[in-house]
Amino acid sequence: MALVVQKYGGSSLADAEQIKSVARRIARTCDAGNQVVVVVSAMGDTTDELIELANSISNHPDPREMDVLLSTGELVSCTITAMALRSLGYRAISLSGAQAGITTNTSHGQAQIAGMNPERIMEELTSGDIVIVAGFQGVTPEMDVTTLGRGGSDTTAVALAAALRAARCEVYTDVDGIYTADPRRVPRAQKLDEIGFEEMLELASYGAKMNPRSIELGMVYDTPILVASSFDDTPGTLIHGEADMNRDVGEIRNRVGGIATDTNVAKITVLSVRDRPGIAASLFEPLADQGISVDVIVQNASVGGATDLTFTVKRTDLGRAQQVVEEVARELGGGEVVTASDLAKLSIVGTGMLDATGYASKMFRTLADAKINIEMITTSEIRITCIVAEAQLDRAARALHSAFDLDKPE
Ligand code: ASP
Ligand code: MG
Repeated sequence: MALVVQKYGGSSLADAEQIKSVARRIARTCDAGNQVVVVVSAMGDTTDELIELANSISNHPDPREMDVLLSTGELVSCTITAMALRSLGYRAISLSGAQAGITTNTSHGQAQIAGMNPERIMEELTSGDIVIVAGFQGVTPEMDVTTLGRGGSDTTAVALAAALRAARCEVYTDVDGIYTADPRRVPRAQKLDEIGFEEMLELASYGAKMNPRSIELGMVYDTPILVASSFDDTPGTLIHGEADMNRDVGEIRNRVGGIATDTNVAKITVLSVRDRPGIAASLFEPLADQGISVDVIVQNASVGGATDLTFTVKRTDLGRAQQVVEEVARELGGGEVVTASDLAKLSIVGTGMLDATGYASKMFRTLADAKINIEMITTSEIRITCIVAEAQLDRAARALHSAFDLDKPE
């Protein structure tokens, strides 16, 4: 008998009919002789609606109250799913995050899991119940309810799978897996049968849809994650530890795994700041204090003791970031602050890049041939990212997708 953890996303639980169909899928897994723990997200757009409701009441909803409010979305879906299973004749029990033994730190709205005590879950499984856990939530040591950040049910599911030592975590959603690129931008994107944690992490951080924290957890605890559609039985994509698979002696798969795109990008340039020690620190510290993360950073070689500093932030943070930077620039006696938000981030991702050459040059040549200007460049071990004009993003992504042999055959 295997222990399976399944997670169902909000788009798979949008109404009563969908919940009944999810219950039938859970029942099938149970009939196949498995013990089943299910993690559910809130139904449909419930979380967005609750956020909107809170914002219509208060400009700054209290974070503690907000978390209790948002946690109710998942409580609704886990109780209803348990009821659906019971009416199919199965034993099922719903548990809140707290009842499931998930403790977190106190960062309301963005809490991190601090401990897992799956004793209650084990008891219920042993007594023959299917256990339905409310995703996206936990409880502090002071028994205050917290939420784990948007898309946090993925994290709940993988954390539970790891704590219960499940063979794998199955994540059911409204798409049938992970693609080589965003199919809306690149029509010839293909579904991947499998992908390594590292590549997935780079893709997830760059636009694709799994919560990156859940991928990190899967990697740390070596828990494979299957992403598949809840609407049909197509096989999905298995995210797992890739090292052995790709690095067989004699067959190093020398490839790009996918193209990541992200339009939540804006650029800030501080012109002619004095080139002396401490300038970058005094600029970036206040941004960090405001919780604004800075991404690609370029500092020009200085001419006559002055230099330009350019960096990107999330477009959704631009307003706040600009305020902070203008203030600091004034204090530093620096020059003008210029911003642009019509940009996008375009990356090639692949563990094949770790020990091979020619990827960067091929990427740049492909973009040059397509007459696409590169504004900034940054790299990690398995990723090369270019900042380009948003208007050219789709064309650029398609060109790279073809150049790196990722296109679905016509
Ligand atoms: N319901 C939460 C959200 O929409 C958590 C989740 O779906 O995973 O972000
Ligand atoms: Mg959701």
